[in-house]
Amino acid sequence: MLGFDFDDTLVLKGNGGAIDPQFFECIQWIRSTYGAAWGIATGRSLHQLIEGFQEAQFPVLPDFVVARERELYFPGQFGRWVPHDEWNTRCERDHHKLFRKSKRVLAKIRKFIENKTEAEWVSVEGDAAGIVASSSAEMDVIQAYVEELSKHANLTFERNSIYLRFSHRDYNKGSGLVQAAERWGVTPNHILAVGDNYNDLSMLQPEICGACGCPGNSVPEVRDFIEKRGGKVADKPGCEGVMEILSHYFDR
Ligand SMILES: [Mg+2]
Repeated sequence: MLGFDFDDTLVLKGNGGAIDPQFFECIQWIRSTYGAAWGIATGRSLHQLIEGFQEAQFPVLPDFVVARERELYFPGQFGRWVPHDEWNTRCERDHHKLFRKSKRVLAKIRKFIENKTEAEWVSVEGDAAGIVASSSAEMDVIQAYVEELSKHANLTFERNSIYLRFSHRDYNKGSGLVQAAERWGVTPNHILAVGDNYNDLSMLQPEICGACGCPGNSVPEVRDFIEKRGGKVADKPGCEGVMEILSHYFDR
């Protein structure tokens, strides 16, 4: 099973959301030769991801999607996406409980964000608590502050460059990937995960995937992690880098 991040892994900023058609040829070849399932694990909402598929002119749909770093969907009939009811319901319930329990600490963080930084606190339907910083350097400072405060057993966060989303420790791209793999009876040692940013680290762990890689434009923390794990750090950025990783693991 293949699990890929979307932004800055498959599509690069400033590329108009395009993906090299050769990438899809690679994917189709691996799907038909190895019977592999292929999916996307992203911080985007399902709606935003579907827009991304359209912009990138996906000729085929993936076999699964992990959206908002935690919700799981499979393709249904007529291009509709069907939620994994059991997983998504449990995920929503656990987050609801967690945010209620963490009200005070989240309020304190919000106060810090609104009074001491240029960042913005985000709270919308389906996404109760998040932060958008004005720069990556500012998010470094915010991350340090948040790490100090969010020591509640289940409260953690996912960071992607200047974006941060609070979440329950049990739900991330990694656990979403393992849950998706259950559908085909695939075990973690038969998963290849690829991503470029902090929020991809959960799915790049050895207990989640037997093989891993990152494109050449990945943040240093991810590059170092992949290198130390013996995964494939591509020279090229974006989907060209992903194709490099695919040819490293599959013989063609
Ligand atoms: Mg990314």
